[in-house]
Parts: sequence; structure tokens; C-alpha cells
Amino acid sequence: MTDLYAVIGDPIAQSLSPAMHNAAFASAGLDALYEARRVSRADLPSALRLLARSHRGFNVTIPHKETILPCLDEADGVVRALGAANTVRVDEGRLGATNTDPHGFLAALDTAGGGQDARAALVFGAGGSARAVVHALLARGRAVSVHARTPERALPLAALGATVIGERDLPAALAEADLVVNCTPLGMGDLASLSPLPAGAVLDAGALCVDLVYGYETPFLREAARQGARVSDGLEMLVRQGAASFRFWTGIEPDIAGMREACRAAVEERACYVS
Ligand code: NAP
Repeated sequence: MTDLYAVIGDPIAQSLSPAMHNAAFASAGLDALYEARRVSRADLPSALRLLARSHRGFNVTIPHKETILPCLDEADGVVRALGAANTVRVDEGRLGATNTDPHGFLAALDTAGGGQDARAALVFGAGGSARAVVHALLARGRAVSVHARTPERALPLAALGATVIGERDLPAALAEADLVVNCTPLGMGDLASLSPLPAGAVLDAGALCVDLVYGYETPFLREAARQGARVSDGLEMLVRQGAASFRFWTGIEPDIAGMREACRAAVEERACYVS
């Protein structure tokens, strides 16, 4: 019988995960099908009861990454540290979760050649992805500053060990950083013309600038490249967090090149994207 997998979220129609995971299942020779399911906030409990009966595993995306926690039977240390899950394995009807976003970010960073940089990292944003990125960087012993539109939202990141900085300290922090990461939706969709960089910002010429947004040439990465910095978009993180989910479900090493290729093909096919 075909093993079923899914990603649940709302909205979900633009997700690249079905293309990416179906490519990995095909490459591994597994009889499995992965599909996107729109699940509203109100429908989450009933959807989880159904998935626990019918599926082997699923991914969780906005708006359920945090609200799913009380519905889980087991959560690993990453989920507990972040207060958010993105991957669930079904074992005899029980739901066991992990969060592969921190691993996905670090694997993408290593691929972009920024894994060994050791000075200071600056992260824009204080939402779910920022929490995963900050957690991952702190675990590698990096000094991390966070700049967020709503500073109070960054307080849990300060509790993890990051330094929250305001507008006044931003130019100096940017000039100092050897890694700058955009964890806001600026540069995407309706915000496509916007950048988290303040006007006149000067970046370190050797810095690596990573935008979690993918599928667009964002103003942030355009400006970073203009200043001579190295740039990387969010597609590799998407692939690497997906590869870690695949391992969590199957115990098999996935065909990462095939997953990346499937994502690129899907990006080319579509006009807009979400993770
Ligand atoms: P989130 O939890 O909603 O957090 C978004 C953050 O961006 C918040 O700090 C928010 O500030 C800030 N923000 C939103 N609009 C802004 C604006 N107009 N100006 C300044 N700041 C603004 O979202 P998320 O899950 O962290 O996702 C953020 C981005 O990363 C999205 O584009 C998502 O698609 C992408 N992403 C990519 C991957 C990947 O694998 N590549 C994984 C996860 C997420 P407030 O608190 O003030 O609203």
C-alpha cells in the first residue's frame, strides 16, 4: 500500500514541498505520495486525528508550527527549545515531532561557504524562522544580534542568548557582521520591492548575506551583491530542512540533488512561492 505524507498549513497551495518530497520518494524507490493539505486553525485537531490514522508523516507550516505542540505525543529537544515543530512522524497513531529548520539553515550555510565564519551574525526579524536561525547560530557558538520591527517579539531570542538591537545601533552592527540573514518577508509577494537594510547601509565586503525568501531576486540580495558581499537565497534551506524531514520519517538518506532540482523546476513553473 502507498505510504502517505503531507504538508499542512494555511495557505498551502504554493508549497514546493510536494514536488521536493515526491522527487525524493521516487529516487529512493519508495511507494509513497506526498500532498499539500489546507488546514485552517479551527480544523487542526480534527485534521490531526485523521492524519494519525492515514499518514506515515507530515510537515507543519504557518499557522500551525506552534499551536500543534499541545496535540503532540512526543517532542524532541529542538521542538522544546524553539516552541515550534515542522515535522511529525506517525508511529501506531502516536505523533512524534522534531523541527528541522535549524539543521536546514546550518546545512545551507555550510553549502554557501559561511559555516566557519566566526565574527558576528545579524538577523532581521523575530518570528518563527528567526527563532530557528538564532537557535542554530548560537548552538555553533556565534555572537548573534537581532533587529526586529517589534522589539518585544525578540525578547525570547534575547532569552536564548541573542542581543536585540535598535535602529541606532544597526549601521555599526551591519558593518561589523560577517553574516546577515533576512528572516522577514520583506522582498516577497506584496513586499517584493522592500529590503530590511536601512538606506545607506554599508556591509562588510566579505560578508555572506542570506535571504530566507526564495524564488525572487530580492532587493536585499541585490544590494548585498552590489556591495561585493556573497549572497544566498532560501531555496537551499528549504531543501535541507526537507531532507532532514525525509530522514526523520524513513531513516534513508535522500537524493538531495534531486530534491533541489525538483524545487528549482517548481520555482520556474510558478509565479509566487511560500515555504
Ligand atoms: P513570521 O513568524 O511571521 O515572522 C516574520 C518576521 O518578519 C516578524 O519579526 C515580523 O515582525 C517581521 N515582518 C513582517 N513584515 C514586516 C515588515 N513589513 N517590515 C519589517 N518586518 C516585518 O514569519 P517566518 O515564519 O519567520 O517567515 C519569515 C520569512 O522567511 C517568510 O518569507 C518565509 O517564507 C521565509 N521562510 C523561509 C524558509 C526556508 O526554508 N527558506 C523557512 C521558513 C520561513 P512583526 O512581529 O512586527 O510582525
